[in-house]
Amino acid sequence: MGETWFQREFLTGRRLAFNVIFYGLHFFFFGYGWHSQATNTRLAGLNSLGFSVWTSRGAGLVLAFDGGLILIPMLRNIIRVVRPKVQFLFPADENIWFHRQVAYSMAFWSMVHTTAHYVNFINVERTQIRKQSAQMIHYTQPGGITGHFMLLIMMLIYTTAHHKIRNQCFEAFWYTHHLAFFFMIGIYTHATGCFVRDSVNPDLIATFPFYSTRHCLGYLSWRFIIWPGILYFGERVYREYRARRATRLSKVLVHPSGAMELRIVKPSFKYTAGQWLFIQVPELSSFQWHPFTITSAPEDPYVSIHIRQVGDFTKALGDRLGVGPSVVAAMTTAAMKGSERKDVYTGSRGDFVEIDSSTSALGLPAVRIDGPYGAPAEDVFNCEVAILIGAGIGVTPFASILKHIWYRQKKGNLGTLRRVEFFWVCRDAPSFGWFQSLLQEVEAAQADPNFLRINVYLTQKIGEDMLWNIAVNDAGAEYDPLTLLRTRTMFGRPDWMTIYGRMHQVIESGQYLPGSKSQLKTKVGTYFCGPGVLAKAIKEACVHHSSSSVDFSFAKEHF
Ligand SMILES: Cc1cc2nc3c(=O)[nH]c(=O)nc-3n(C[C@H](O)[C@H](O)[C@H](O)COP(=O)(O)OP(=O)(O)OC[C@H]3O[C@@H](n4cnc5c(N)ncnc54)[C@H](O)[C@@H]3O)c2cc1C
Repeated sequence: MGETWFQREFLTGRRLAFNVIFYGLHFFFFGYGWHSQATNTRLAGLNSLGFSVWTSRGAGLVLAFDGGLILIPMLRNIIRVVRPKVQFLFPADENIWFHRQVAYSMAFWSMVHTTAHYVNFINVERTQIRKQSAQMIHYTQPGGITGHFMLLIMMLIYTTAHHKIRNQCFEAFWYTHHLAFFFMIGIYTHATGCFVRDSVNPDLIATFPFYSTRHCLGYLSWRFIIWPGILYFGERVYREYRARRATRLSKVLVHPSGAMELRIVKPSFKYTAGQWLFIQVPELSSFQWHPFTITSAPEDPYVSIHIRQVGDFTKALGDRLGVGPSVVAAMTTAAMKGSERKDVYTGSRGDFVEIDSSTSALGLPAVRIDGPYGAPAEDVFNCEVAILIGAGIGVTPFASILKHIWYRQKKGNLGTLRRVEFFWVCRDAPSFGWFQSLLQEVEAAQADPNFLRINVYLTQKIGEDMLWNIAVNDAGAEYDPLTLLRTRTMFGRPDWMTIYGRMHQVIESGQYLPGSKSQLKTKVGTYFCGPGVLAKAIKEACVHHSSSSVDFSFAKEHF
């Protein structure tokens, strides 16, 4: 029987270690909060309420812990800097996943905390240990007001963060998530009401934090958890400042598949291959920042990104640049037929049209970029063999990585890297236009035909007409008729188990890396960018074929 969902998510390798530490800490804080409330003799009055008050205190402490923790994975700039040093300890690239785990935990403990408090308030009203009604505590005291306010914000944030809503209306997710600012204010001020006290009336004072610690007990956690909040706020201010540094959109190219390539000049922007950035076009929206992978190499004199027009922002940008969806549709149809219209653009599928901004009264729009973020591809140079796999739009990071490898190859500075296998899995033929010129260049520049192998897969079902076209054009041709590369396109989905199996075999036999020492383990790093289902299949193949002589590692980039 295969591995169950529970085994995979909770009981394997690093996940098990994570779960033991993560949930262990949560239960520790819950127990500590419960214990410090229950054993505090100064709180004998409140403790007469029993389990509910101990539960609310324990869950409250867990929530304070989570309130500090949830912002840490969002400190993108700090993570980028510390990533190389902490990667051995935990996967820093999984920051969004971690953010989500903390969010799930907060949802659970909020329910525990709120339910326990509702019981507390009803019992206060029933027993009259304080002369207050439950409703008064709920709606007139700081703890009750901030608590309800935070619950409302959580409901908005959690519902709009659901992947279905996020995919349909990213703006709803994006703007609602900024309510987190008010949520954090709520968490830091939740205790100002002095609900937990040893006096009959709250001992409120006029100066910050507006309650006296002589009678108001506990709730000092905000002094610790405010730091991630300060750091996050500092990062946002720094990002704003950095994004305002001189930036110019110097060129826009449109590839036949419809992808727009923006070339931006920003001298202060430093990055490494494989990273991504946020772009803003203030003319279209002064609030929206959209992430795109950097497709240029650090050695290039510009920063480039390739944009597919899929929704409001990207289509509006296309329209603004004069290559809106209708122009793209015409180009895509032409490319599908393999008969590019000469009046739209000239040349082969790999060519592009440069937008001539001088003919437009508006010129090119102003842009701002923020970043870089994400994992640099420098790890590639630490393995002997790099397997780079891009699926669809996921090919973008590899444009930069392949160019960077090429620049380093020219300088004779490849580190331990001896061979590169590049896989590009594409659904339809026009998409090949994207990086075909780049791949052609890289392929042509190879002195050693074995250093870089390009494997292109077309997964789309092929019609009879197209099949004929391919057959006629392919016969005896030096270049593949679809990609114009020397490598032949393969049709259908790649069988990863077989591919990795064969790879393992040839490495072990010594044919793949001649001269490598057989007693050493060959390090083969896989770098993948694309959909989750494919990632799973590739990872399984890596794990299955790893052995004492060949170590297949797997890393993926999320879009
Ligand atoms: C790390 C990363 C790298 C990316 N690199 C590329 C690239 O090289 N080329 C490319 O064409 N696309 C890339 N994308 C996707 C690109 O960000 C979205 O296509 C773009 O933001 C769509 O915006 P829209 O308003 O036109 O479309 P919408 O219809 O609003 O959204 C289409 C899809 O994009 C997502 N999306 C929308 N806005 C954002 C945002 N601000 N942040 C994250 N996701 C968003 C939505 O959830 C939805 O799934 C990348 C995304 C990520 C997260």
